[in-house]
Amino acid sequence: MSKTKIVTPGEKLGVIEEYIPGNGTYEEDGKIFSSMAGELDLDAKNRTVSIVSKKTLIPEIGDVVEGIVVGMKEDVALVKIVGIKGKRPLTGDFSAQLHVSQVSKEYTKSIFDAVNLNDRILAKVTTGWIPYQLSIVDDELGVVYATCTKCGWELVLRKGKLYCTNDNISERKKISSLYLLKE
Ligand SMILES: [Zn+2]
Repeated sequence: MSKTKIVTPGEKLGVIEEYIPGNGTYEEDGKIFSSMAGELDLDAKNRTVSIVSKKTLIPEIGDVVEGIVVGMKEDVALVKIVGIKGKRPLTGDFSAQLHVSQVSKEYTKSIFDAVNLNDRILAKVTTGWIPYQLSIVDDELGVVYATCTKCGWELVLRKGKLYCTNDNISERKKISSLYLLKE
């Protein structure tokens, strides 16, 4: 048995020379694409490719997801979605992006003023395909756990700021009202 692969709408699955398009797929110019989200089913014997719907296993628009910031670009944080709040655990890795325009009601100049590498965040999904776009504007969304970028200690919430008791410095972030370590 191969590992389960989850696909999102519009992903290229193969070409008609290899497979017959089955449930949940469509063909365009000889290529086969997924028309829905779900589990990829490649049937080598019958040479068919189809998608099995697994609704609760993939993030959907409006879901609040838990994620880890795995990369930082100029205006965008790259996020790995690790779970959907209030639903079953996910079976695969889902990559997502948080743009600087989606972090606060107020203008935020730099994405680094909102999140940083390795932060754990709660975010809302705003698009239904990979890479999922995220928003952390709402009060309960944002960073729920973070460590100091200098020394690695856990940051604690003190007077609205995330504080490192080792370095006596605070770091600017978009903090979730559900931040885990409060003083
Ligand atoms: Zn520190």
